Amino acid sequence: MLDLLITNAMIVDGQGTMPGAIGVSGSRIASRHAEGEPLPAARATIDAAGRMVLPGVVDPHVHFYGEGIGEYSRLAVRGGVTTFIGMIRGAPEIPLATVVEEHRVAGVNEAVTDFSFHVVLYDRPESIAQIPALAAQGYTSFKMFMAYKRRGMMVRDEFLFDAMEAIRKVGGIALIHAEHGELVDYMEQAAVAAGQTAPECYEPTRPAEAEAAAIEIVALAAQATGCPAYIVHLSSNQGLAAVERARRRGVPIWAETCPQYLLLDNDTLREVGAPAKVAPPLRTSADRRSLGTALLTGAVNTVGSDHASFSAEAKAGGGGNIFAAPFGMSGAPTLWPSMFTWALDNGIPLTVLVRAMSEAPARLFGLSHRKGSLSPGADADIIIVDPALRQTVDVKSIAPAVCPNPVADRALAGWPDITISRGEVVWHDGRVTGMPGRAQLITQQRT
Ligand SMILES: [Zn+2]
Repeated sequence: MLDLLITNAMIVDGQGTMPGAIGVSGSRIASRHAEGEPLPAARATIDAAGRMVLPGVVDPHVHFYGEGIGEYSRLAVRGGVTTFIGMIRGAPEIPLATVVEEHRVAGVNEAVTDFSFHVVLYDRPESIAQIPALAAQGYTSFKMFMAYKRRGMMVRDEFLFDAMEAIRKVGGIALIHAEHGELVDYMEQAAVAAGQTAPECYEPTRPAEAEAAAIEIVALAAQATGCPAYIVHLSSNQGLAAVERARRRGVPIWAETCPQYLLLDNDTLREVGAPAKVAPPLRTSADRRSLGTALLTGAVNTVGSDHASFSAEAKAGGGGNIFAAPFGMSGAPTLWPSMFTWALDNGIPLTVLVRAMSEAPARLFGLSHRKGSLSPGADADIIIVDPALRQTVDVKSIAPAVCPNPVADRALAGWPDITISRGEVVWHDGRVTGMPGRAQLITQQRT
């Protein structure tokens, strides 16, 4: 006897779309049934007539310094995120294992869905020395910044090469924030010195060329060390071209983009100012279209939120000076609805989204033994969506302390009416029904 049967569903996964039913036993998917097949008995049934049933979203790029991991997960689950991978950044002098363990404990105590972590490396020899022990604990993805020198986060090329060699030895993957840090610092100082601090002055200080130049270095590092590289938040056509050039010579390199680079452009920054300040910056409509095509063809592999929330006051804190405002947008709840709406409006098959937002992030980060698919044996992480329903969800009312993402003002489709995590309904009828304390750390497995 099954625990749960989801019937009359339009099932969408990375292979295609098919009408049928899905059986759940305990925390796992037990069976798939084509339309018309006799169905096994079940203790509970969800009739999904008229709705789509898809794998839960795996968000590969999350920061929770704004609200903490528990509140973050409650925000994300309403948008269909059932697994998130957080960027863990401590202070240079604290052992990485200590920082990661603090976040793991917070995650299992406070989050309502499962999670994993990327570990941010500081440019210090002892960061590299800690990689094997972290990998043995199931943390095999490591993030480095090529920008933010003045904030002490930028790594030198020499460190990048050494770290990637160490990451390759443990079978891991290097995530890179690819912007030429010294160039963008110089450009920003020059703009500020000239009094050019209006919102429209921001993008030219972090030009697409600075992204492409950094990606060229990363690609050379990946080629020299054999370590797979994953470019976070790819923003530009020039950056994409650098990724594709590297691939043509066999370099193992992957690319993620974010909804803001597909749905918004530089005009939004001019209109709304600081709330639209992200790094890399929003680009032109031509960049936006080219990244969209790349997602469709698979040249862009994943879509992450890069969720990084600040209060409206903090975002506006620079007054008129765009350079004084913090970087980041709150993308947790709108990640999936914004992409679902983008796909509907542009005639993009939803299978493309499932590949980029469930399957690929799970596979690239060693989670696909449990996450990212609707195959029997996988964790029963499932979302149920009415594709005809468009809603403007007032993000301010659910997260009053968070500066709204400009996308959230739109009527978006794709909001799940039910989100299931490991067989348990964690979001239903506009309420988070999953309780803190139920989440698990998913250790990354490399083959
Ligand atoms: Zn980020």
